[in-house]
Amino acid sequence: MYPTNNISKPLLRWYRKSKRPMPWRNTKEPYKIWLSETMLQQTQVKTVIPFYNSWIEKYPDFESVAGARLDSLLKSWEGLGYYNRCHNFHKAVKIIVNKYNSSLPINIKDFMVLPGVGSYTSAAVYSIVFLHPIPVVDGNVNRVMSRLLRLLRFTPYNKKRVLSTLIKWLDRSRPGDFNQALMELGSTVCLPKNPKCENCPLKLSCGGTLSGSPESYPSPKPKQSLPWQNVLTGVIWKRDSFLIIKRAGYKHLNNLWELPSGKTLTKNNPHPQLEELLKNKFKLEVTIKNKIGEIRHRYSHFGITLSGFHCRLINGSKPEVNRPFRWIKLNEINQYAFPKANHKLFNLIQE
Ligand code: SF4
Repeated sequence: MYPTNNISKPLLRWYRKSKRPMPWRNTKEPYKIWLSETMLQQTQVKTVIPFYNSWIEKYPDFESVAGARLDSLLKSWEGLGYYNRCHNFHKAVKIIVNKYNSSLPINIKDFMVLPGVGSYTSAAVYSIVFLHPIPVVDGNVNRVMSRLLRLLRFTPYNKKRVLSTLIKWLDRSRPGDFNQALMELGSTVCLPKNPKCENCPLKLSCGGTLSGSPESYPSPKPKQSLPWQNVLTGVIWKRDSFLIIKRAGYKHLNNLWELPSGKTLTKNNPHPQLEELLKNKFKLEVTIKNKIGEIRHRYSHFGITLSGFHCRLINGSKPEVNRPFRWIKLNEINQYAFPKANHKLFNLIQE
């Protein structure tokens, strides 16, 4: 490990001058800080800002979230992805309102165990709002630290060294700023590729840049290819309405609405495959009409090629599913929250 100096002072000086304006940086309100930290998980700042602003307009405080229907919250979250964050935020806020009288618990451990919170979010929220001296470690912080300390791998031993160094360096009077400054440096200066060391306030203390090859820290993980699935979907028409079904009880995209669909092993012979799939999975008898198109969509751990077909319901056939379903018109799409892949297909239909 490279024995670098405490970076706190130059880091905080740089942060004061260089931090990007963000709507949640003008407040210390626990609700807003927690919401922003939840939305920012695995999502870029520029994506989050419009979602955060419109959410705050609709749901300005804990009570408004606790009193809202999950379907309405999901509609506001639609497009931000990782929908479990929204489910968990709803559940956790209800606990805050009912059990803690709309205030965050005094003991951080009581906050940490709420649905979807955990050690990262609790450290971020409590260091910003209540000035608890706890370091926050995310991907950006790990990268900056691995370069400062010249760590090639995140072994359990090195993780402990990162944490103990951060605890030593953390400015006790401004822990929230210290945490945000390190994350900001990772997002804007100490980039995964081509770090801007010449503009970095820590360049004189950084083992990585002094070695001449900061990018080699940490050593890159071998790239894994993304598993890919073929999915067939039917836009099943009954007069001028089509069928949508709620994804209730799923881990992925839970409680969003979707077109009836299923995975297939090949893209060959889609008509008989789709007919069979709709019959077996939903007890639906349909006539397959023309192809709408094919879209590709990447989720975090897999990708799909979704082939969509217009279908006509055969008279008398009814869906048999133990999940809610609706027959909706094209102009009612906006009343429901759908996965992005379904929206891409709706765009093709409307073109
Ligand atoms: S000097 Fe370069 S490698 Fe070191 S922390 Fe700054 S940007 Fe990252």
